[in-house]
Formats: sequence, structure tokens, C-alpha cells
Amino acid sequence: QNFAPSEQAQRFLSRDEHHLLIDGERVPAASGRTLSTTNPSTGEVLARLAAGDQADVDRAVLAARRAFHGQWGCWTPYERQALLTRIGQVLDERFEELIEIEALDMGAPVSRLRNTKPALLKMVSFFAAQAAGIAGETLMNGIPGEVTTMTLKAPVGVVGGIIPWNGPLNGQFWIIGAVLASGCTAVLKPSEEASLSVLRVAEILHEAGVPAGVINVVTGLGKEAGHALAAHPDVDRIAFTGSTQTGRIIIEASTSNIKKLQLELGGKSADIVCADADLDKAVPGAAMGVFANSGQICFAGTRVLVQRPVVEEFTERLLAFMDTLRVGHSLDDAATLGPVVSQPQLDKVLSYIDVGRDDGAELLCGGRRLEGELGNGYFVQPSVFTGVTNEMRIAREEIFGPVLSILPFDDVDEAIAIANDSEYGLGGAVWSQNLSTALRVVHGVHTGTMWVNCYGYIDPLVGFGGTKMSGYGSKGSAAHMDTYLYTKSVYIEL
Ligand code: NAD
Repeated sequence: QNFAPSEQAQRFLSRDEHHLLIDGERVPAASGRTLSTTNPSTGEVLARLAAGDQADVDRAVLAARRAFHGQWGCWTPYERQALLTRIGQVLDERFEELIEIEALDMGAPVSRLRNTKPALLKMVSFFAAQAAGIAGETLMNGIPGEVTTMTLKAPVGVVGGIIPWNGPLNGQFWIIGAVLASGCTAVLKPSEEASLSVLRVAEILHEAGVPAGVINVVTGLGKEAGHALAAHPDVDRIAFTGSTQTGRIIIEASTSNIKKLQLELGGKSADIVCADADLDKAVPGAAMGVFANSGQICFAGTRVLVQRPVVEEFTERLLAFMDTLRVGHSLDDAATLGPVVSQPQLDKVLSYIDVGRDDGAELLCGGRRLEGELGNGYFVQPSVFTGVTNEMRIAREEIFGPVLSILPFDDVDEAIAIANDSEYGLGGAVWSQNLSTALRVVHGVHTGTMWVNCYGYIDPLVGFGGTKMSGYGSKGSAAHMDTYLYTKSVYIEL
């Protein structure tokens, strides 16, 4: 079957080359070099991107610095709030075009992306509210009538935003929202695997009234454009979402001018199903906690810990649920799962499936690349392993693909110990109808987020972040804005 995007998305996609966006202008890379990106549903080349490097990052940072010190710095909080509100409206109107571009670029099915619209609009309104709520304090610590002390919050300046491929359309708004709310400016470096929704959004932001230079986009390789941004002496902050491995490199690169970092890194979350769980909810909940976005979610609950008395029933029901999943082309409305993003990612997932088998785990379903009509795309069958122990590599390393491991446990303390026996600390869940059991697990597991009888909610008001090697800093909550603001103490003698 042939799947084609709408005319509007096609008009954007059919450009010969997708340029950088610097100072409000679409420009090729200074070197003239390009790189190609593929449609993971077909393996065909989808677009050519400008391959930006140090020279382009220099240009973009200069534009961002100029904009920071220009007219943009005089916008009132209410004007920035109104801009964000307008952006929310435009995103609402243009969402179908944007999700088609995203689906073709990184492979998530449109059916899934469509469901993320409320979360995106909520995030934008969260940041609109933040814009008009930036406040310092007045302190009563001096001699009354002689000294008054206060703190002011000021935008830090130029922010470098380095974005992964697993959900750039929505993910970029954690940076864009905070940049516009705080009065900072930004240079965004999307992943070379999925840059198109970031480029398209940047154009739409300019149409919606974002001044030139405030949001710039430099596409290119991580080790070139990404490194140049992380190491740049005139970038004040880096907001990075990506792998722990790259996070380490970015920490080193950022030391040149002591940049403060927000790091949202990898995970290996544990999803704990207790014997008293409502399996009608726990089975689809735990399954989609892994298989949503074909397992390419940082907080995927890939280690499903099941209490022994219900292991058999849980497994049977899980396998029945697997039959309801439909893997297909990202533009196929009926598809619930798409491909993984690229050939290297497909190879990585398949090699982990071999590792699981070699280490003695039992593969219950899946395990192979799809053949036939979808055979040229990067499709891997959703896969379930049982007989997994927490020492196995498939239980310790981030696979970032549709692979679920079942690990049995006897009592809740053992489950907590297994969950904590990981270098990561990002997400996790507990399924139990007993609130005391659930809360014991919530308190016991060391992660940034725990879900109880559900999986995957993220509310910008509450925030989302990691502990251990999953990073630091929070997406959402008042703490998020701290990456984009600094505090100035002011003493006034009267
Ligand atoms: P990645 O680390 O390979 O790349 C992320 C970004 O960093 C890309 O834009 C890439 O070009 C850039 N990059 C690569 N090398 C660089 C370098 N040397 N210097 C500067 N930039 C460089 O990650 P990915 O494969 O795109 O995304 C998957 C990873 O992201 C997973 O580990 C996942 O858990 C993580 N992730 C975390 C969160 C979170 O909120 N914690 C959210 C989404 C994804």
C-alpha cells in the first residue's frame, strides 16, 4: 500500500535541501555539505539536510547573542506570554502537517502522534503561564528603613538545545517554551536522524511572531554541530536530552566556560506488577509502557517485574495483548507501532535480542525483522523475553527498541532491590490494589518518576527528571525555569 502525506506536508518535504535557520533566514551550511535522512518505514531517502558545523554554530550563536541584547530584551513578560499563547493556537491548527512530517522522519505512527496533541498544548500553556510569573523575593533581613534586600531573576542569555530523535516535535518545546518564557534566545541542534519537525516548527514560530535570531536551528552531526554548540564559549547553558554516553561527552565539552547543564539521559525503568494487581489494567499498561513508540522512550518500563503467583497468568495475557498490536507504516492510520528510527538502531535492537538468547533468556514472541511488504523498513517484531535475570545485559543496558523482559520476584522488598540494581533512575511503576504496598514501592525505588497503576503521564506542572545516571535538572515544574534564569541579589541602602 502507498501512503502519501498531505499536500502541505509534501510541499515542505519536497524541498531539494533543508537549510539551517539562522537569524530568521533559511541558509545552507557554510561548507555547502549536506547529509541525508531516511524514511524508516521504507528505508528510502526522505530529505537532504544541511550539514552544519563549527562555522554555522558560530553564525547562529552570534545571531542569538545579538537578538538577546536587541529588541527581544525589551519585550514585557505579558508580551512573551501572548506570543506563547499564539504559538499554542498555531500548533493546534498546524498539528496534522507537523505529525505527518514527524511520522515520516522518525517512524512513530500518526495514530500515536495525534494523541500527543493535548500534552503539547498543555506544555505550551504551562510556559505561557511561567512567562508572566517570573519573580524574585524581597527579604526582611536588614535594619528596617535602612537596607532593603531583594533578588531578581534574569534570563541567562543564549541556550544551546541538543535534541534526540525519539520525539523531537513535542520534545523541543521543553526548550523553546522555557526560552520564550524567560526571554533567553536559543540555538537548537536536532538529531541528524530526525531534524525535520524542528526545522518546520522554527519556520512556523517565525510566522507566529518570534523575532529573528531568538530561535535558530543548526542541523548536522552530533560530533560536529552538536560538539561545537556544547563547547561554544558564548553559549550560557546547554539543555541536552539524549543518551548517557553523549551526556558525558557534553559535560566535558561544556567545561570551557563552565556552562550550567540540564541533562535528560537514558533509563532502564522497572515496572513492578504485584500479585494483587488488576491485570486488566496492568497487562496493557505494562505492555504499552515498553512498546509505545516502538520502545524508543527514555522512561520505557523495559524490566517488567512480576510477582511469582501471577507470572503465568500475566504472561498468557500479555501474549494475547501482543496479538492486538499492529505494526505498520507510520502514515497508516491503523498502525499502533511503527519502525525503529534507522538501520543502525534496527541492528542494535536485533543484536540485543541475540544477546538475550545467548545469555539464556527465553524469547516468547517476536525477535525478527519484519519481512514482506514492510521488509525494506526498519521494523522489528515486538518481542518478549521471559526467564530474565537482572544480571543479564538485556536487563541492564538501554536497548531503545520494542523488547520487554519479564523478571519474576517473590516479595516486594526483592522487587525494590531489583528495580534499584541499575545505574539508571528515570521512571518506573507499581501495579497493586493495595495502597500501602504501592506506596512502599514508590518510596523504595530510586527514580525521578513513579507511576501507580498507570504508566507514562507527564504533567509540566509536576516536572520530569532523572537521578543517578539518568541525568539532572527537571523538565517542567518551577525548577525547569531555573536553567534559563539566574538569580541576582540586590542590596539597597536607603
Ligand atoms: P544521542 O545521545 O545519540 O543524541 C542526542 C543528540 O546529541 C543528537 O542531537 C545528537 O546529534 C547529539 N550528539 C551526539 N554526539 C554528540 C556530541 N559528541 N556532542 C554534542 N552533541 C552530540 O541520543 P539519541 O540516540 O538521539 O536518543 C536516544 C537517547 O536519548 C536514549 O538514551 C534516551 O533514553 C535518551 N532520551 C532521554 C530523555 C529524558 O527525558 N531523559 C528523553 C528522550 C530521550
